[in-house]
Amino acid sequence: TASETGPFRFDNSYARLPAQFYARVEPTPVAEPWLIKLNRPLAQELRLDVETLERDGAAIFSGNRVPPGAEPLAMAYAGHQFGTFVPQLGDGRAILIGEVIDRNGKRRDIQLKGSGQTPFSRRGDGRAALGPVLREYIVSEAMHALGVPTTRALAATVTGQPVYREEILPGAVFTRVAASHIRVGTFQFFAARGDMEAVRALADYVIDRHYPEIKGDERPYLALFRTVTARQAALIARWLHVGFIHGVMNTDNMTVSGETIDFGPCAFMDAYDPKKVFSSIDQFGRYAYANQPAIGQWNLARLAETLVTLFDPVADTAVDLANEVLTGYGSVFQEHWLEGMRRKVGLATAQDGDLDLIQSLLTLMHKGNADFTLTFRRLAACAEDEASDARLAGLFQNPEALSLWLADWRGRLAREPQQAGERAAAMRAVNPSFIPRNHRVEQAIDAAIQDADFSLFEALLDVTSKPYEDQPHHAAYAEPPTPGEEVLQTFC
Ligand code: AMP
Ligand code: MG
Ligand code: MG
Repeated sequence: TASETGPFRFDNSYARLPAQFYARVEPTPVAEPWLIKLNRPLAQELRLDVETLERDGAAIFSGNRVPPGAEPLAMAYAGHQFGTFVPQLGDGRAILIGEVIDRNGKRRDIQLKGSGQTPFSRRGDGRAALGPVLREYIVSEAMHALGVPTTRALAATVTGQPVYREEILPGAVFTRVAASHIRVGTFQFFAARGDMEAVRALADYVIDRHYPEIKGDERPYLALFRTVTARQAALIARWLHVGFIHGVMNTDNMTVSGETIDFGPCAFMDAYDPKKVFSSIDQFGRYAYANQPAIGQWNLARLAETLVTLFDPVADTAVDLANEVLTGYGSVFQEHWLEGMRRKVGLATAQDGDLDLIQSLLTLMHKGNADFTLTFRRLAACAEDEASDARLAGLFQNPEALSLWLADWRGRLAREPQQAGERAAAMRAVNPSFIPRNHRVEQAIDAAIQDADFSLFEALLDVTSKPYEDQPHHAAYAEPPTPGEEVLQTFC
């Protein structure tokens, strides 16, 4: 029965890997846990016992009660942080409690974040503050609803204990679900120690778990590298399509599964600016919006360095093979990006000049300080009805230039096979009305911290779970911030 086996049917493959892959460690109990939120649909997808989790969720998701079958561990990894290599990072405040097989037969990690110190904590307290936990919950679920590969939010609890940052804040624990938590930095951890046996074992594990179709490949490790590269190119293109800025694209925050991970000082931009940065720790704009594709390639080069000796017994050949994949990343990314951008402006076919058309809109948006999300959403209305042009133009500081662009765009649309209504619907299906705007996220966090009021958190989750629907009764959530509401910086 469920009470004997517990709410999770764990099958913990990572715990069966060699001992140097992790440290076994239990969560540290907290004073007064309280369940803020359980993601019931996700719990069902993971085939968990939802009734038990509703009853005992506070104890389980705070780490106070380790459920039957769990084998808690902190994963070892290294990473380049803002370009500087750190040979040992690891889960300093996260504990993998185990893996389950979901309804689709996919293996998923369940991890507590903020559950106490581990052997990888260095000087950190192993804890998480309520604000970042709520931000990760909201933004990761919004990314999922937008159709962007991402880790998921299963639960959030408050601990009843303070955490000490620049100020004293309520503590919280976030329960994250991932296809796996293996990072570029996990490979770097073993490569930096010259432990190529471990690198190979990790690569084999990743192939088995994520890319079994590669197994028979003549050069499986090269195929693995090529596949991870393709996934990241596709992922980062998706970020750009929705105006997402990750904020901390260190190699320890890049998965090999192709899911977005580690929502720290991340944000969606309001007004379009390719140089946009929100993170308080990104002084030089290394991880600015438009730098993300290039940083992806840089990170993938670091992955290649860990695997290259496995690509081919001849060193020169191995390096050439790695470089070929890395060079190809640029065009793979560009293809994904352009394909998505075409869809955003309502083009179902590919024609010469499309890139210029798209680029000139982006330039106008930048010069006109136009809201990224609303520009594309309102453009969908213009695809049906020229009377909607004024509403779109209202987003631009220089609306005259826009009318010339709209004329060019309509000229291009005339060479499309789609009917106007069909085109507008297709555009609405890829251009969200609702993103978790920063000022809304901050308002939800403030209410939770100041008044233990989670109603704004719930409302924002609800609105952003249907990003492509109009939801007229929630129209205010589609609006950009007023100058006074604007959030200039985000913190981890
Ligand atoms: P992040 O910036 O969240 O990607 O974390 C970078 C590294 O710092 C990882 O090894 C984390 O586990 C570690 N870390 C971040 N915050 C804490 C904390 N409060 N206590 C212990 N380790 C932490
Ligand atoms: Mg991290
Ligand atoms: Mg983090």
